[in-house]
Amino acid sequence: MEVKKCPYCAEEILADAKKCKHCGEFLDSTLRTQHNPPEQKIVVENKSSGLLTFFLVLGVIFLLIAIFGF
Ligand SMILES: [Zn+2]
Repeated sequence: MEVKKCPYCAEEILADAKKCKHCGEFLDSTLRTQHNPPEQKIVVENKSSGLLTFFLVLGVIFLLIAIFGF
């Protein structure tokens, strides 16, 4: 049977292997993404904080208008 080296632990495994029997790493890229889904970056948090700053600036402007009596 054909063997190859595991890229993770360098042990010899079967060429058809989807998962290394030595270290347990998935050799199939599709299996790897299924088991380790990529972290989705949360951009909403930054957006809401930016919106908060916008309203804060707007509030200061209205406050200045109120002080100077427009
Ligand atoms: Zn391995």
